[in-house]
Amino acid sequence: MHFEDLALCYYHSGPCDANSWSSPLLSVGWLEHPHEYSTGVTPPALLDRLEDLIARSWDHYPSFAFRGSHQCSLCAHGSPVGSRATRSHENLWIPGDGVIYLTPGMITHYIGDHSYSPPESFIHAVLDCPDYGSHAYCSALRASNANQPPPLLTNQEVDEKWSRERDQFLARRRPPTSA
Ligand SMILES: [Zn+2]
Repeated sequence: MHFEDLALCYYHSGPCDANSWSSPLLSVGWLEHPHEYSTGVTPPALLDRLEDLIARSWDHYPSFAFRGSHQCSLCAHGSPVGSRATRSHENLWIPGDGVIYLTPGMITHYIGDHSYSPPESFIHAVLDCPDYGSHAYCSALRASNANQPPPLLTNQEVDEKWSRERDQFLARRRPPTSA
């Protein structure tokens, strides 16, 4: 799947679709052969931070961790470079300044092994991003989304939503008390 950097992202229905958000959902790192991409040196902290966010995404957003396996088409059409794991199952939502960035987990391979240099605004947003799935992260995501609830719930939020709905359902089923 290829999107130009900072183009609106329409990868998949739900939170991967720009139409689901109140602020622009921007693509970063959706590289595919033979599309050109920017290269350069990135701050070393960037890769570490991305790896950490991806690792935490499995705990908090497991339902968005699987979107099918994907081979790196840059490696497939050239000599494979580097040995960094190609993470193709994760997607990361990074709160930005009035925007949200959506990047595939493969971005660590692109940066580490293909010298990909993502947009400056994205790099800052990643370095500023609170721990993935934390309350601070959820608040930042909401702030980026024009203060509207993001279409992306953590595991815990999903549990709370189900238990609220179950309580409401049971309350409706309760037989009326006789006068
Ligand atoms: Zn590759």
